[in-house]
Amino acid sequence: MSDLAGTNVIITGAGRGIGAACAKAFAQAGAQVLCADLNDPVETVAGITDAGGIAQGMVCDVSDESSVLALFRKAETLGPLHATVNCAGIIHERPLLETPVEEFDRVIAVNLRGSFLIGREAIRAMHGQPSQSGQPARLIMIASDLSYYGRETFSPYVASKHGVLGLVRSWAKEFAPDILINALCPGPIDTAMLAAANMTPEWREKELAIPMGRFGQPEEIAQMALFLAGPNAAYITGQGIGVNGGSIMP
Ligand code: NAP
Repeated sequence: MSDLAGTNVIITGAGRGIGAACAKAFAQAGAQVLCADLNDPVETVAGITDAGGIAQGMVCDVSDESSVLALFRKAETLGPLHATVNCAGIIHERPLLETPVEEFDRVIAVNLRGSFLIGREAIRAMHGQPSQSGQPARLIMIASDLSYYGRETFSPYVASKHGVLGLVRSWAKEFAPDILINALCPGPIDTAMLAAANMTPEWREKELAIPMGRFGQPEEIAQMALFLAGPNAAYITGQGIGVNGGSIMP
């Protein structure tokens, strides 16, 4: 039996991309997955239940406090929470001098305020509770390789992802050894977000110059999230863990 069998797990951004891959991977490992997304993640939930897994979907805007509180009220009805994986995120590419403040506000609202709200409520739910798995509970945030360096024309996104690491490092200290809190820092992963980032052929060429010579797949991020939620990651907290094909080596 899997170490995560019967545990409850929340995945945000579960409608597609990295979040959908995480939801499927945790369900395959035997967890009961509450899949949250801005739009009802029906396809992800159907994929899991058709394969014999257990999942429910819920609409949740991570940038909206009342929506996040409703998500955790729903989670409470399912029993103790073992892990939360916050995958919801947005990206915009635009030269700074053409960037309206509303666009900055929205990126920060989803990526940073959303991480704060999901993290705070996950910690509130998991702090001091007897763990289902006999292991400390886990909070896993999706940051980015752009948590470590700058990129022209992506400054609001880059700032938001630097901020996510700040939250993780601070919370990890505040809540050890009760809850293990880490960030995954993916390199370029083959999802709709990568396409939406309006990558020019020149950028794609640069990205393909990464040592592994390819973009990552969402499932490769999901496998690391699964590891961080399991018993073999019991001494890892406060880290930004690169899954990036060697694209950066901070
Ligand atoms: P994606 O394919 O665009 O998926 C993002 C998901 O987040 C979508 O399902 C989207 O829902 C959802 N979402 C957006 N705003 C939301 C909100 N306010 N509340 C709840 N859900 C919301 O992106 P991805 O590539 O899987 O990215 C997942 C995470 O990894 C993000 O945090 C991203 O920054 C990070 N990341 C990605 C890469 C990459 O190369 N792909 C690299 C580094 C880090 P809708 O579809 O309904 O809008």
